[in-house]
Amino acid sequence: MIERTLVLVKPDGVQRGLIGDIISRFEKRGLKIVGMKMVWVDKDFSKQHYSAHIDKNFYKGLEDFIISAPIVAMAVEGINAVELVRKVVGSTEPKSAPIGTIRGDFAHVSYEYADKKGISIKNLVHASGNSEEAEQEVSLWFSVEELFNYKSANQDYVM
Ligand code: GDP
Ligand code: MG
Repeated sequence: MIERTLVLVKPDGVQRGLIGDIISRFEKRGLKIVGMKMVWVDKDFSKQHYSAHIDKNFYKGLEDFIISAPIVAMAVEGINAVELVRKVVGSTEPKSAPIGTIRGDFAHVSYEYADKKGISIKNLVHASGNSEEAEQEVSLWFSVEELFNYKSANQDYVM
């Protein structure tokens, strides 16, 4: 029931100075950050992380975007964390992401706009899509030594 999932503040979130606002959404929900670092990835790493998307027509734009500035990577832990984090993040297209979600509150572009320009959708955050993806992605981005077990106040007052 308690899961770990990968969250990335993508280059647009870092460059817009929204790292703190984004992290606080997860903290306030009672989720626990068990790993965190800033990384500037290269094309090879992008292909590993987005291996499922390499053949898609938006991959080139996605790769250009993801290597354009540093990313803040987090491993986030909580009850059904994978599903919950996706809910906090909102749907992929900011235009249709519900208000109250990160993508719905801090971004607004549409698929149509991004595709016409040949760029990736700037949607601030990556979050693992399912439990299998979460396990795979947390181990791609974090070594065992970079993940921490510690007691948080949430364990007494939220969980
Ligand atoms: P996510 O799991 O919600 O991040 O969405 P996906 O795994 O389907 O896609 C990965 C990322 O590629 C998205 O977050 C967007 O930044 C970008 N992306 C996905 N679909 C499209 C698309 O149809 N057009 C464009 N331009 N970018 C896309
Ligand atoms: Mg995805």
